[in-house]
Amino acid sequence: MRNVIIIGSGPAGYTAAIYAARANLNPLLLASSVEAGGELMNTTEVENYPGFPEGIQGPELMTKFQEQAERFGTEVILDDVTEVSLEGEVKTVKTGYSGDFEAASVIVATGSAYRKLGLADEERLSGRGISWCATCDGFFFKQKTIAVVGGGDSAMEEATFLTRFASKVYVIHRKDTLRASKIMQDRAFANDKIEFIWNSEVVGISGENAVDGVTLKSTVDGTESHLELGGLFVAIGNDPRTHLFHGQLELTKDGTIAVDGRSSRTNLPGVFAAGDVIDPTYRQAVTAAASGTVAALDAEHFLASLEQEANHNPEIAAAVAASV
Ligand code: NDP
Repeated sequence: MRNVIIIGSGPAGYTAAIYAARANLNPLLLASSVEAGGELMNTTEVENYPGFPEGIQGPELMTKFQEQAERFGTEVILDDVTEVSLEGEVKTVKTGYSGDFEAASVIVATGSAYRKLGLADEERLSGRGISWCATCDGFFFKQKTIAVVGGGDSAMEEATFLTRFASKVYVIHRKDTLRASKIMQDRAFANDKIEFIWNSEVVGISGENAVDGVTLKSTVDGTESHLELGGLFVAIGNDPRTHLFHGQLELTKDGTIAVDGRSSRTNLPGVFAAGDVIDPTYRQAVTAAASGTVAALDAEHFLASLEQEANHNPEIAAAVAASV
């Protein structure tokens, strides 16, 4: 049985691994087989992670996180977790291809997933002109007129990045003010290739085999209009990735995993959560990393308390000895 299994390989997961490994807990980190490294793998320049005054590419930063975790003895497996059983003293984590693992504690750092518009044609045209990742797919939109939906930092970042390829980028936003930080707004406003379409929602996507346009609905007077497009990027935020834990871990009204105060303790003893999956507000790489630290320290204290209990209770000691 392992001391601690960490599920997730973004800044929270890897930072938890660095701390747990340095505490000699020999953590096992289960990174996803497809989305290993988390959201920063889809980012270009990260300018706000402390310690990198010149900025650093997102994937490079995540490689450094992984190297640092492995340097202290973290075992990293690239596989998807398919099922968990977190109640009771022995936690079980099942994976797609690498078998089942048992641990005395689990740190959940599964992050969040791209939010979808929820339109009928969205799935059908996904990968055929609809994308959630400008850095992954921007190259395919050379000299096209495209749009980005959203008014946050992601939308501004994607729109600005996409002007490297596209001839024109509309930003479609449902309000008349942006949620994005001032610096990101200013960058987008200053870019000649970007045009804002305010107070508008995308209510339909057209195209037989590939996106050829969208139907917009005014959030002011409800009128509809058609906009011809060669591509659509959706950048409307993320939802916490909690589907594996439904029925076991308590969630908040925001859909994040509920934790006790400033700690990472969930409703189940020995189960801790960190990063975007507990954070509806800040969701920065650096806050996720800090949250991973908290989880590793909480797990360390929990394991120490188990050991102490075992020292005072021969029955528990026998159970622990049998499980190792
Ligand atoms: P946000 O939640 O900040 O913004 C989401 C945007 O999408 C909002 O403008 C919101 O509108 C809009 N939106 C949400 N749902 C819908 C919908 N169904 N239809 C239409 N529009 C919708 O998410 P982001 O991904 O932009 O950012 C997440 C976090 O990551 C933030 O903390 C951000 O600062 C950070 N980030 C930082 C970056 C950087 O510093 N380089 C880059 C990217 C992200 P409304 O405003 O009306 O709610």
